[in-house]
Amino acid sequence: QMAEGLLVLEDDLVKTLLPQRSSHSHKGTYGKALMIGGSKEMHGAVTMAAKAALRSGIGTLTLFVPDCITLLLASKLEESMIIGAASEDGFFAHDAITALKRILSQYDMIIIGNGMGRNEAGKELVRTVLESDRPCILDGDALYETGKITAALQRPYPTILTPHVKEMSYLSGHSIKDIQQDPIAVLKEFLRKYPFSTVALKDAHTIIANSQQMYLNLAGNHALAKGGSGDVLCGILAGLFGQSKDALTSAACAVYVHALTADLLLQDEDANSILPNDLIASLSETYQILR
Ligand code: AMP
Ligand code: MG
Repeated sequence: QMAEGLLVLEDDLVKTLLPQRSSHSHKGTYGKALMIGGSKEMHGAVTMAAKAALRSGIGTLTLFVPDCITLLLASKLEESMIIGAASEDGFFAHDAITALKRILSQYDMIIIGNGMGRNEAGKELVRTVLESDRPCILDGDALYETGKITAALQRPYPTILTPHVKEMSYLSGHSIKDIQQDPIAVLKEFLRKYPFSTVALKDAHTIIANSQQMYLNLAGNHALAKGGSGDVLCGILAGLFGQSKDALTSAACAVYVHALTADLLLQDEDANSILPNDLIASLSETYQILR
C-alpha cells in the first residue's frame, strides 16, 4: 500500500539517494544504455537527452536513431555510439523494428521517445521495448499512444514513465483538468494497474511515485518551461538509473537535480535566457553541491 505522506525532496535527502561511484569500477558498472528516438524535425531532443545522460554518469550510451540523422548526431556526440535504423520521411520506418529486436538484449536499459515523433513504426518500437524484459524509461512521444497498448505496460520489469500532465492524460484516460485537480488519486490508480512502474508526473511541482512511496519536488522554476527541458530530465534519469538500477530513487534524484540546476542558474542569469543546454553545462556544479 502507498505510504501516507509525500516525502519532500531537499538537498540532504537527495544526497543520501544519489548513486555513488566507486574506484573499483569500470564502464560496465554504470549501465549500458540504448537510447531510441530522434527524427529529422526533432533531432535536438535526442541529442540533449544523450548529452544529459553522458553528464550524469552513464557507463556507455548507444543511440538508435533514424538513419537520416546519424551523421548530424555523430558530429555532436563523440562519446556515444550511434546505430542508424531504417527511416522514411525523416522518421523511423517499419524495418527499424526488426533491427531493434536483434540488438535489444545486449543492453541493460532502454530509453525511448525523445523526438521520435508519433508514427506507426515508433509505436511498434515502444511495444517491442515493453514486450522485452529490459528495464526501460519512456518519455515524450513514447507516452503518446502507450495508453492504447496497456497490456504491454503490465510487464513485471522496471518501467519508468515521465509524463507531463497532457501525456498523463493519454496514459490514464483522465482529463487534464481531473489530473490537475487530484494528481495523487490518478497516480495511485495508475500504479495499482501497473505495479512495476515508476512515474514522474511533471509539472511546476512534480510528483515521483511507485506503488510503495511518493516524493514531491518543489524546486525548479519557470526557466524550465521551454521545449527541451523534459529531454534533459530524461537524460539525467538515464544516467542515474544506469548507475543505481533503482527506478524510484533515480527518478526522484533526477527530478531534483534538474530543478536545482535551474534554480542555481537563475541566481546569475535571466529566466528568459536559460536554455536546456545550459542545464546540461551546469550539471557538474549541481552534482558537486549534492556530494
Ligand atoms: P517537458 O514538458 O517534457 O518538456 O518537461 C518540462 C520539464 O520542465 C518538467 O521537468 C517540468 O517539471 C519542468 N517545468 C516546466 N515548467 C515549469 C515551471 N513553471 N516550474 C518548474 N518546473 C517546470
Ligand atoms: Mg517532454
